[in-house]
Amino acid sequence: MFLEKFRVDGKIALITGGTRGIGLSIAHALGEAGAKLVLTNRTDQFGGLESLKKAKYDVSFFEGDLLDKSIPQKTIDYTLEKHGRVDILVNNAGIAKHGEMEDYNDDFLDSIMNINVDAVFRMCRSVITPMKKQGEGTILNIGSISGLVSNIPQPQVAYNASKAAVHMMTKSLASDFANNNIRVNAIAPGYVRTEMTNLPKEHEHWYPTWNKSTPMNRMAETHEIASAALFLCSPASSYVTGEVLVVDGGYTSR
Ligand code: NDP
Repeated sequence: MFLEKFRVDGKIALITGGTRGIGLSIAHALGEAGAKLVLTNRTDQFGGLESLKKAKYDVSFFEGDLLDKSIPQKTIDYTLEKHGRVDILVNNAGIAKHGEMEDYNDDFLDSIMNINVDAVFRMCRSVITPMKKQGEGTILNIGSISGLVSNIPQPQVAYNASKAAVHMMTKSLASDFANNNIRVNAIAPGYVRTEMTNLPKEHEHWYPTWNKSTPMNRMAETHEIASAALFLCSPASSYVTGEVLVVDGGYTSR
């Protein structure tokens, strides 16, 4: 009975940034649990789509740059045309750009806020109407421990602020749409081994600080975030909404 609660058979799951990194692992978790997948990215340069097809999941791809304000609505429309509904939305796409406050230019600031905050808002806005019509839905936003604490040593005021906004958006939506049977949660991962944390040579000295600041003394693998995502996207978490689930090897416990 309890394992069945983690199944999402036949559910339509839309994942932004689903072809690599954390998003790809979440796609594998939801696919293995029975969901039909729709991914949206700019490219599939790391071959994630192929790995999902090889695993024989029902997967389709909508190419789009979330910097384009029209893409969130177009992505939802594509999913509705293809499947008639959207049961699960995972807002995973995100970017990180580090930099000292005094030098941080407006283009960097705009791109961080446009992808990490505005695109998440637009995706949620576009999915709420179909979810209300369906009478149910689940939204999962990928936040960060950077939305909870100011992690070191990298200077990243804009990224931290963007992830704090994601957490608050999660709580507001959860409160506003609980009556419509729509659950909204977030995951706040600690450091995860992906392209995002694949540091250039001059920043490699950040790794020991990250590990030393993490009681488990290591970074996470993407599947360790994906299993938490499966919990939050499935009926296993049927009474959980408005939660920011921290998955950080203990980082924020210090
Ligand atoms: P990656 O850099 O590996 O993946 C980022 C994903 O976002 C890619 O799929 C990318 O798609 C997509 N994306 C970025 N910009 C755009 C855009 N303009 N339009 C469409 N898609 C876009 O990072 P992670 O897997 O590590 O990150 C996933 C999420 O997890 C992010 O929100 C990140 O902030 C968060 N996170 C990551 C942590 C980590 O340590 N790695 C820690 C805490 C949170 P494309 O392939 O088209 O570029």
